[in-house]
Amino acid sequence: MYTKFKQSFLGKGICEAIDGLLEIIFPSESVCANCGRIEVYDYGLCKECYFEVLNKSIFSKVQRNYPIKVEFDEVYSVCRYEGLPKEMIRRLKYKEKVELANVFAKFMVDVINNFNIDFDIIVPVPSSKKRIRIRGYNQASLIARNISNLTGKKVLECVEKIRDTKSQTLFKDQNRWYNVKGVFKCSTDLSGKNILLVDDVFTSGATAHFNSVALKKSNAKKIIVLTFAT
Ligand SMILES: [Zn+2]
Repeated sequence: MYTKFKQSFLGKGICEAIDGLLEIIFPSESVCANCGRIEVYDYGLCKECYFEVLNKSIFSKVQRNYPIKVEFDEVYSVCRYEGLPKEMIRRLKYKEKVELANVFAKFMVDVINNFNIDFDIIVPVPSSKKRIRIRGYNQASLIARNISNLTGKKVLECVEKIRDTKSQTLFKDQNRWYNVKGVFKCSTDLSGKNILLVDDVFTSGATAHFNSVALKKSNAKKIIVLTFAT
């Protein structure tokens, strides 16, 4: 996206010259964060992976019908949860491709800028302690920290998952809402704060809703959900 914007303002030749110069001064990582190809086109991805993501992109506000009144205010997402984006999320979660968190964050910051999303604090959707022990990290926290680096807004890991649950992918529809009901707790006062609630994927809305219940109990003013895919 950035490249397209830049080229429309400056022309391709000038952009390439500037990029070439920047590369000498600030050499970037030289392999694609997704497939490992020795070529980075933009956003840490090779040309093929980058355009695969753009092919699935929606860069929009998500409108859904929910079975109950949800506690979050708005939802935004970068792309559809299928094809390469789905595979990339799986890699971030299960194959320790932690660099993908930075790639997701770059696309997600585009959504923040496009929609002028106003927020005070970034809160990642938590994993249970057991899950973090097994995986070594919480993927939503990694994405949140990268969004923080790009926006200058603080991350507050104030929501806790108080018990481990089965993966939401094992459940359909209504059962997803029962699976995560009451498992999130927030113990920090958030009076008057607008929260950017960050996760890798938004599906039923159940996880975002029960995180939002905890955040609103702690007096959060507004909750905007932002995910890489939906
Ligand atoms: Zn690639």
